[in-house]
Amino acid sequence: MKAVDLMFGDLASLLSDAIVLVIVTLMFVISLRLFLDRRKKGYMSMTFSVIFVGIHYLLKIYVLLTALDTSLTAYVLLMLKIVSFVLLNFGVYQLYNRTHRKQYIFFYGLIIMGFVVSILHFSVPQMYNGTIQQVRLLQDIGLELYVFVLIFLCFYMIPPYIGQQTKYQWALTIFFFIQSCHLINVYMYGNNQIWLTLAGNILPIVFYFLLFIMLFDRVVELMQAIYNSSITDGLTRLYNRKFFYNRVSQYVARHLPVYILFSDIDNFKKLNDTKGHQMGDDVLKQVAQIMKDEAEECGIAGRYGGEEMVVMVTDPSVKMEAFAERVRSRIEKETIVTASIGYSKYKNGLSAEELIKQADQAMYKAKTTGKNKVVKYS
Ligand code: GH3
Ligand code: MG
Ligand code: MG
Repeated sequence: MKAVDLMFGDLASLLSDAIVLVIVTLMFVISLRLFLDRRKKGYMSMTFSVIFVGIHYLLKIYVLLTALDTSLTAYVLLMLKIVSFVLLNFGVYQLYNRTHRKQYIFFYGLIIMGFVVSILHFSVPQMYNGTIQQVRLLQDIGLELYVFVLIFLCFYMIPPYIGQQTKYQWALTIFFFIQSCHLINVYMYGNNQIWLTLAGNILPIVFYFLLFIMLFDRVVELMQAIYNSSITDGLTRLYNRKFFYNRVSQYVARHLPVYILFSDIDNFKKLNDTKGHQMGDDVLKQVAQIMKDEAEECGIAGRYGGEEMVVMVTDPSVKMEAFAERVRSRIEKETIVTASIGYSKYKNGLSAEELIKQADQAMYKAKTTGKNKVVKYS
């Protein structure tokens, strides 16, 4: 065996098909896992589509090994190519979207159109009197050209609805080249042009590898989103109480010199009663944004309860009195509410709970001595 055999010829096709099969198997494992974990109908299409791709490639290998290249196997392979391509794109769409009836009609319509086009496949032998080779070439052309229609439709219709658009469009562009090389090779060079054959062996690997990366990135993104939503509060996007508390505990356990700022919006109930709950929510978001801005470079901000927000300042160079005063004055200036703020400094021996409680007590003192002010725990 020579190195050249690995690039051209039957062995090369076999090697390429086998690599694609490996990639597709990995995609199958990931998408099945995604589907089983999340039980969303959407993730089933990706699983199904990779099964179809797998069948397509297994059959390709089988045909290659047994030299079973008949008109029927060619037809089955072509249809498998079309069905798996449509399902694969449907799967990508569903990774990012809920599917409604309209989309099912669209994608399944594309598959049905494929079957309609295949009428040509079966009518050519009756209508055209040529050699077997000529008939075979003519038979396939309808479906082969239909693949281009599919590529263009997907290229223009799907990207606006998904993430990783550039990667997706690159993948489709590569598929376009695969299909073009294949047709030029078959119809102009009798399937003998070595460079086109080489491209036909390498490009599918690139295509499926790109799809694999897309699927993988999407899974990571979903996991990240699940994690983020488990540690943040849905309304304000600040860290939730549990996460904040755990973070404070970590710092306290290492005896690091942290400050806790505890703020509570003044007369918030009245705002809700007079201007409505929606307005209340909007104000909460504004105040939270101020907390987030101020904490960004020196610590973390969290939502501790209804309208109670907290900051842990971990940067020892921060002048806490000025920091708390800046937060208070920004809330007063930038929103329609004011806030009472208390803060406390970590001292050896304090637990996270006690530290936060001290800040809360200081805040309470600010409330009872006139509101809209900063009080240091003492
Ligand atoms: P004080 O100045 O003493 O803090 O008075 P207050 O009215 O702010 O204090 P209180 O704790 O009695 O009221 C807090 C209110 O915050 C009660 C509740 O209706 C409101 N609240 C809590 N969570 C939310 C929320 O997510 N959205 C809205 N709009 N209101 C909330
Ligand atoms: Mg309040
Ligand atoms: Mg309160």
